[in-house]
Amino acid sequence: MSSTDALAIAGGSPTRTDPFPSVGNASGRNFGKEELRNLEDVIRSGVLNRVGGTQVPSLESEFADYLGVGNAVASSSGTAAIHLAVAAVDPEPGDEIIVPPITDFGTVIGVLAQNAVPIFADVDPITGCMTAETVAAAITDRTRAVIVVHLFGGPAPVEAIKQVCEPRGITVIEDCAQAYLTVPDGATSYAGTRGHIGCFSLQQSKHISAGDGGLTVTDDDRLAQRMRWFADKGWPRETGGRTNLFLGFNYRMTELQGAVARAQLPKLWRVVQARRNVARTLVQSLADLDGLTLPQDVDRHSYWLFPVVIDPDVLGVDNQAFGKALQAEGIPVGIGYLDRPVYLADVLTKRNTYGRSAYPLTSPPASKDVVYAEGDCPVAEQLIDETLLVVHVNEHYTERDTADIATAIRKVHAGAVELWDAP
Ligand SMILES: *Cc1c(COP(=O)(O)O)cnc(C)c1O
Repeated sequence: MSSTDALAIAGGSPTRTDPFPSVGNASGRNFGKEELRNLEDVIRSGVLNRVGGTQVPSLESEFADYLGVGNAVASSSGTAAIHLAVAAVDPEPGDEIIVPPITDFGTVIGVLAQNAVPIFADVDPITGCMTAETVAAAITDRTRAVIVVHLFGGPAPVEAIKQVCEPRGITVIEDCAQAYLTVPDGATSYAGTRGHIGCFSLQQSKHISAGDGGLTVTDDDRLAQRMRWFADKGWPRETGGRTNLFLGFNYRMTELQGAVARAQLPKLWRVVQARRNVARTLVQSLADLDGLTLPQDVDRHSYWLFPVVIDPDVLGVDNQAFGKALQAEGIPVGIGYLDRPVYLADVLTKRNTYGRSAYPLTSPPASKDVVYAEGDCPVAEQLIDETLLVVHVNEHYTERDTADIATAIRKVHAGAVELWDAP
């Protein structure tokens, strides 16, 4: 390597000094006159609550049509959207719901809130998604549902997981918070429509956003009805009566969120295509590098993030060293995505659920005392601690932005030996 190629982390000049477009501000978001027009309609109407409003009901039917499903139910967040799904399944306390160890904690909150027990199934060493085999190994006679996460927008094998679950009457919930327009393998339709229930998020960082918000979709009218009531205090308003059928919450989306989300929806397709174009360029320009595995299936992935799995045996460095070197080059990249798998969060290891009860992780209501510990999912731990990098992707990246990422990855790849030798 020539001295001009010296890695920034070793005192060389960084590949890039100015910031990339980011979902954290206007540079990487798509809020404009369409959103403002809908918001103005809402303010002028004087109705900011979905009850009596038009934006949220319209959003629900437009989103259902977009995905080709029978029902969409709006809520206040992606976490709420998943809680709606779990509540519709209506597990008994102590029943088990299978979840992956690499995801946002929002995947698990609704499980615990309904007093069900999250059971973690290990993941594929490249995609970070659960497989039919890992799910099958986690099933017991208490399993009520599986929450399949399409991690980073990559398609999880939901068809194969369904084949394991359906004969046993286990509900398949898809967490698509990172996976708008993802196409799972073996399917021609979108993620979220393959399982029994699909959950989406409109939080700031997702493909489309209303700041916060959630959408839950299903073809099952009975489940949809339960979800609508659950998000509205268990209140069957449409009957005209004032009563509460079961324990529900107020998870209603406001008309202001609905107004923004409705304006975002027609922009979704272009957002995903633009991210696929960035990914296609990265995959092509890095294809010859040994020791890196890139997400190849460009038209099925929606690239909420662009995961790069490195092979420390080939490169001589792990994801921590490689990632820090990339960050020093000015590239927006996360190391391991999480600090630790979800099951090692304090709420689970210390069982900080309801007072000091540790409920529902106790026996009863669970069949055994549930203990979460290091080593539960070794593949997930290896991804987080040794092999996974997540490059931030945005629909506003220019050719130069994408080229800078590729250049920096090539540079750090070439310098990996030097990194290993560094003190
Ligand atoms: C963002 C996210 C959630 C939670 O969504 P919020 O809208 O932030 O509550 C759940 N699951 C996954 C996989 C996510 O990425």
